[in-house]
Amino acid sequence: MEKVITCINCPVGCRMTVMLSDAGDVLSVSGNTCPRGDKYARQECMLPLRVITAVLPVPGSPTPLSVKTASPVPKDAIPEVMRELSRVRPVLPVHAGDVIVKNILDTGADIVATRSLL
Ligand code: SF4
Repeated sequence: MEKVITCINCPVGCRMTVMLSDAGDVLSVSGNTCPRGDKYARQECMLPLRVITAVLPVPGSPTPLSVKTASPVPKDAIPEVMRELSRVRPVLPVHAGDVIVKNILDTGADIVATRSLL
């Protein structure tokens, strides 16, 4: 089976062709200009990961808090992580880089603030 994937690691956006076995294993990757593309294509076929960004309301602040996962989480976990984040209300003051939720839903990723709200 053949799968076409666009690398999102840099603005070049190489279009890569991934050959998969019937069992879904990656047999080859072509079309990438650098090794990062090969790694991304294999990861995308086996276990797609994404960094999640969100904006949370903060009690007492007219400005919401932008947050993100400190590391990528499985793409399948995004809806559940977003549901969990909808219940989170950060407490002022918050500094950029503060951990808002540790190891959200046991994904291994912390939710961190991407800005300060004092
Ligand atoms: S394969 Fe390399 S050059 Fe091509 S988009 Fe990915 S990171 Fe950029």
